[in-house]
Amino acid sequence: MFVVRVSNFRKFNEKIAHIEFKPALKAFPGQFVMLNVFGYEEIPLSLATENSIVVKSVGETSNALVNKKFEILGLRGPFGRPFTLPRNKKILMVAGGVGVAPLKFLYDVVSEHNDVDFVYGVKNSDEIVFRFKNCIYATEDGSFGLKGTVIDALRCLDLKNYERVYCCGKEEMMKAVWKLFEPLLPKKSCEVSLERYMRCGFGVCGSCSLENGLLVCKDGPVFNVEEVGW
Ligand SMILES: Cc1cc2nc3c(=O)[nH]c(=O)nc-3n(C[C@H](O)[C@H](O)[C@H](O)COP(=O)(O)OP(=O)(O)OC[C@H]3O[C@@H](n4cnc5c(N)ncnc54)[C@H](O)[C@@H]3O)c2cc1C
Repeated sequence: MFVVRVSNFRKFNEKIAHIEFKPALKAFPGQFVMLNVFGYEEIPLSLATENSIVVKSVGETSNALVNKKFEILGLRGPFGRPFTLPRNKKILMVAGGVGVAPLKFLYDVVSEHNDVDFVYGVKNSDEIVFRFKNCIYATEDGSFGLKGTVIDALRCLDLKNYERVYCCGKEEMMKAVWKLFEPLLPKKSCEVSLERYMRCGFGVCGSCSLENGLLVCKDGPVFNVEEVGW
């Protein structure tokens, strides 16, 4: 484990914060870190850039991260298999809530060499952490962009145009996205980032194993939909 210094902290609402740290890591989009919040536990969080994370408060440790000011944090990683990096492709990224974090990293890395559209769904506008070009924002309460879910937003697009789809958010949402693309794309062309309860982060403890035996920490967290068997 090494220690990083918090260089910027921005809170978006009661539950969500973007935390930048120094020094930056050598990492790829889709990878995660095990973040040790001193005095609390160690939790897995996706990298949103080489030096930042987005965290949503769901329990004790994530709540401390969002609501207390830490000057330093402990960190292990980066871990996990990243997204495959496309070139000269027509791409769609679909994010739900804080699932935007790994896709922000991917967007920054690939948007120069690919034609990228983005669909970003949240409950209401104060959960919007990042802005993207060519993005449909969907808010469940209609406070910004289209009123509805990412699935409603996808119905506004010509889905057969896309050669690759990258998705991160709740698993039911990602499955629903894949249902729309299933008749249009090979399974290997759709990549999703999965979450499971995790302890070690590098394939030893087995706590994050999927039903098919693949480990989210080591074989993922990014999988194509063929690998996850959807
Ligand atoms: C690879 C990976 C990347 C992640 N990236 C992010 C991210 O970028 N931003 C973010 O806010 N969160 C992310 N998470 C989820 C985050 O790790 C959990 O929210 C966090 O561990 C909760 O810890 P806690 O102590 O605050 O809550 P706990 O008290 O541990 O849990 C509170 C609630 O959250 C549920 N929970 C805990 N861990 C997970 C998990 N891994 N997956 C699903 N539900 C869980 C528990 O079942 C419980 O209902 C990621 C998880 C993984 C595995």
